[in-house]
Amino acid sequence: MLQEALKIISLPDLRKSLESDEIGEQIYKLITDLYPICRSITGDGVRETFKIIKNHIPLKVHEVSTGTEVFDWEVPKEWNIKDAYIKNSKGERIVDFQKSNLHVVNYSVAVNKVVPWEELKSHLFTLPDYPDRIPYRTSYYKESWGFCLSHNQLLAMQDAEYEVCIDSTLEPGYLSYGEYYLEGESQDEILISCHTCHPSLCNDNLSGIALATILAKYLSEVSSRRYSYRFIFIPGTIGSITWLALNEERVDRIKHGLVLTGVGDRGNFTYKKSRRGNAEIDRAVIHVLKHSGQEHQVIDFFPYGYDERQYCSPGFNLPVGCFMRSSHGQYSEYHTSADNLSFVQPQYLGESFSNCLSALYVLENNRTYLNQNPKCEPRLGKRGLYRQVGGHAEEQVDELALLWVLNLTDGEHTLLDIAERSQFSFDAIEKAANALAKHDLLKVKPE
Ligand SMILES: [Zn+2]
Repeated sequence: MLQEALKIISLPDLRKSLESDEIGEQIYKLITDLYPICRSITGDGVRETFKIIKNHIPLKVHEVSTGTEVFDWEVPKEWNIKDAYIKNSKGERIVDFQKSNLHVVNYSVAVNKVVPWEELKSHLFTLPDYPDRIPYRTSYYKESWGFCLSHNQLLAMQDAEYEVCIDSTLEPGYLSYGEYYLEGESQDEILISCHTCHPSLCNDNLSGIALATILAKYLSEVSSRRYSYRFIFIPGTIGSITWLALNEERVDRIKHGLVLTGVGDRGNFTYKKSRRGNAEIDRAVIHVLKHSGQEHQVIDFFPYGYDERQYCSPGFNLPVGCFMRSSHGQYSEYHTSADNLSFVQPQYLGESFSNCLSALYVLENNRTYLNQNPKCEPRLGKRGLYRQVGGHAEEQVDELALLWVLNLTDGEHTLLDIAERSQFSFDAIEKAANALAKHDLLKVKPE
């Protein structure tokens, strides 16, 4: 199945040929490859991540110098880390970065000294409610150091002093981001954005990175694309601010966009609408979820969350929504060591992939048609379109869908408008439109 998909094929054939489970396995495998890397908003962990993504797509990596002004912000110093630990009086590493990169507060400055327990305490972070989990903490914009550990580990610490070491550097360098542009028939773009700054955390957001990569890979195999696609792999917040600052003159090409995050857990789908609220991407995703038969929720835009905050800031107000399963902060594993390789599963990743591809399919095919026989209904029977019996089930066109399409192809309604109004799925409406177009009863309205 997947071997076939690697040939150049059409988008409808791609959708038909891809098995959600197999795709889910591919996405999961990529998450597994990326999981051990200690990422942050800058540094070699991000570059290593891009190197692995490059095994799938020819990602272009950009390096933006520390100190570059990007709107009200500036690109921070670059952070790298080799090792970190807390040793007890016996010289044992009781907290060890080599065992989990979550143990170090991300962006900690270097430290190497013996500290009394009273002082060390204020540099330790735990989750008393989940005593065996390690929390994920960052300190990007305040130079400090700290360790994260399970609460059980903390309770076991009895010594009067400890040796602490964080072998890190925080120096002028670069912010790295990855970009993959897929040219389509039009220069109008669909933006797919995901954040690459989290260390060993799977749902937030290796799931988004891996889904975007595999989606890009398959879309690159499609023979014709109406839209151009721009996939960007950026650190959260500072990355989208940097990208927008460097690409300000080009952003009006973005006609639709999605931030992908948290797409691998078992939770129901969540779609957070763009700030506009009724953009075509909002309608496309909501339509797909509604017809997927899966439980889901749609939430209005709010200025908190992921990079949609920047894309939807008032100076841009881009039509970018956020596609998730469980939304951030709504699950206890969020930002803890429990967001691991068992928290995400191939099945859920595969379902997320299918829904994303279906939403893109809607955008690719959401055209406006003109009825060529608008005065009363055309005789469908004599064209073999009505009361048809036999034929393969999948080729059958619903008669009521035909009538809706004929009635609403007045040049004022897109296929998605018709699908929404008629309660049919986009696929059923598109199939009806194709059948009518084949008999010259419809023509695409020139854009
Ligand atoms: Zn996060």
